[in-house]
Amino acid sequence: MEVPPPEELKQPLVVPYKLLMGPGPSNPPPRVMNALTHPILGHMHEEMFQIMDDIKKGIQYVFQTKSKLTLALSASGHSGMEAIFSNLIEPGDRVLVLVNGYWGQRASDIAKRHGAQVKTLVQIGDTFSIITIDNAIQTFRPKLLFIIHGETSTGVCQPLEGIGEITKRYNCLLAVDTVASLAAVPFKMDAWKIDVAYTGSQKMLQAPAGITPIAFSDRAQHVIFTRKSEVPVYYVDMKILGRQWGCFDSSRTYHHTTCSSLLYALREALALAVEEGLENRIEKQKFCAQKLYEGLQNLGFEFYVEEEYKRLPSVTTVKVPQGINSNEVVAYVMKKFHIDIQGGLGPTAGKVFRIGIMGYNTTPEKVAIVLEALKDALHNCRKSKF
Ligand SMILES: *Cc1c(COP(=O)(O)O)cnc(C)c1O
Repeated sequence: MEVPPPEELKQPLVVPYKLLMGPGPSNPPPRVMNALTHPILGHMHEEMFQIMDDIKKGIQYVFQTKSKLTLALSASGHSGMEAIFSNLIEPGDRVLVLVNGYWGQRASDIAKRHGAQVKTLVQIGDTFSIITIDNAIQTFRPKLLFIIHGETSTGVCQPLEGIGEITKRYNCLLAVDTVASLAAVPFKMDAWKIDVAYTGSQKMLQAPAGITPIAFSDRAQHVIFTRKSEVPVYYVDMKILGRQWGCFDSSRTYHHTTCSSLLYALREALALAVEEGLENRIEKQKFCAQKLYEGLQNLGFEFYVEEEYKRLPSVTTVKVPQGINSNEVVAYVMKKFHIDIQGGLGPTAGKVFRIGIMGYNTTPEKVAIVLEALKDALHNCRKSKF
């Protein structure tokens, strides 16, 4: 054979344990990891449909929605953005994106690729007021407003209450990325009149990456079913995908082969959310974030988001201190403690550290561990300079 069998693949797989305290992924709990080892089922098996129905109910609970068009996309968080623009936008439609960091920029990039006429409001590292949003919608008249609820590049949490009333008034759809905010702060899809929301499995939901819960309101569903052109991306066409998930009636038709293992993991992750209760999770998140803030302050860090009420409690951003190289600290913490923290991303690259406390790692003990590691790193990385 011209290409010989590679030597590397003659060795068994070895994967080290790392404590994941960055902006995602996070370490899933044992019950979720164990779920991955259940036998594989066919995607059209009766038992699989039951699991998918359980997942739908779990997603409706975590999103606080009664939306029928609720399912999990077989891809990572980005697929939520692709699904929104593919299904709700036709070429030439106007989209307004609130940009308070990297993910807002990413959303506007994807919207443009779908032929949307995109306008952005930019306030990196800050939140948008209701008045600013109202004015922008009134003048631009978008078909869809896109908001990142928890912007993990800057650590900002955009308040959502009251925005749905404005979008309704102007017949505009409201889309929200809750990839890193869901189950960290309150989120009420129906009560807040949100038309489409998606989240990340690997962040607060404590499952592996690669499966993305998403829900569309009746209003959004109507837009999908009355659009003039075909949904351009078959893989995220909700009209067809929704049929496999039994969203419209009890008949199911094949769209693609779902990954049964990931669905088991997501099902168990949602079951854990149900068992613990969202309110309790949110309380716990607040408590642990507070512990982290105190510890970071004691280490002399300054917060990138000054006002505490604007901070996303799942990802905290602190400024890189003078005389410190953020890459060096991130590498040091990984090498010595096997802990994953991250530097900045996009507009915050080189400027901040991002420390995540998500899901299974949302405990005072894990917060203490990451603070100890940072303390050691600051001491040693500073010393190496002089
Ligand atoms: C992580 C993240 C994403 C992207 O998720 P992937 O699973 O990496 O595709 C999207 N939005 C926000 C706010 C995120 O933090």
